[in-house]
Amino acid sequence: MPQLISLIVPCYNESSAIDLFVATVTPILDAIADTSWEVIYVDDGSRDDTLEKLIALTQKMPSSRVVELSRNFGKEAALTVGLDVSQGDAVIPIDIDLQDPPELIADMVAAWREGAEIVNARRVDRMSDSLLKRKTASGFYKIHNALSRIKIPENVGDFRLMDRCVVNALKSLPERQRFMKGLFAWVGFRTVTIDYTRMTRSAGSSKFSAFSLFNLAMEGFTSFSSAPLRIWTLIGGCGAFAAMIYGFLILLRTLILGNSVPGYPSLFVAIIFFGSVQLISVGLLGEYIGRIYMEAKCRPIYIIRKMHGMQNGCDPEREPEI
Ligand code: UDP
Ligand code: MG
Repeated sequence: MPQLISLIVPCYNESSAIDLFVATVTPILDAIADTSWEVIYVDDGSRDDTLEKLIALTQKMPSSRVVELSRNFGKEAALTVGLDVSQGDAVIPIDIDLQDPPELIADMVAAWREGAEIVNARRVDRMSDSLLKRKTASGFYKIHNALSRIKIPENVGDFRLMDRCVVNALKSLPERQRFMKGLFAWVGFRTVTIDYTRMTRSAGSSKFSAFSLFNLAMEGFTSFSSAPLRIWTLIGGCGAFAAMIYGFLILLRTLILGNSVPGYPSLFVAIIFFGSVQLISVGLLGEYIGRIYMEAKCRPIYIIRKMHGMQNGCDPEREPEI
């Protein structure tokens, strides 16, 4: 039986990017020897005509399948859906805007056949992203990797090839709040990295605002490290020690020079400073408690409204387990 390659394509309001994506990816997949392929489009609650276009595609191309989610669950959840329904021996998540170059798929498959279980694609040139996005992304990787034992490779996005054994490992992870880049790194396995240059979007605009990227970064920090919690014990300890020394110095000065009135500004600054430090640490505690709360509810990661094209070209031996 030829090896099956599954592409997972999360789509959120991507109507303008679909045609070009299909036209680019199809010949590339066809050209890979000894393989069959399927493309799983996950419609993540699009509000334009993305879903209609994707359904029409399943009628034209039997190897296209569409999973329709009941609302927008976010890219991490959409990727999880794709991993759950994919049947491939190798699975590749890819963005529909062609920022992840499909030409790399052939190289990824070659590396996989040579024994790699994960083939990462690393962006060597992110000039297509704004300066702010590049700087904040690099800051995120640095802080995350300093805090966490699980290191996320810098500039490696979700675009990567994963062997079936890696996908099965990912599927076995029960957490509901999923920071995929961290989970990919957490499962381990033999990894090879290929470099590429990141292109600009083929059509449409980015679906990630600065705020959603900040949320994703917080998700990353709190999912894979408890160091942000622990650091406050250290800061508190240092602060208390400094306060003790300062107190001792004041006592000494009062004994030698007598009592003096000045000191209001420093007092005021100290109150504000320690007040804010406390607020930050309480906020951070809230972040973790929020995570416990979300996990404790045990809600599903996503809800599927309907699957389209699943009967077409689908091998009953490889039926998805949902
Ligand atoms: N996406 C999604 N759900 C969302 C946001 C984005 O499925 O809530 C998809 C989007 O359609 C695209 C991919 O995730 O295929 C990457 O999104 P985008 O290109 O906007 O991100 P960027 O490249 O700007 O980081
Ligand atoms: Mg993009």
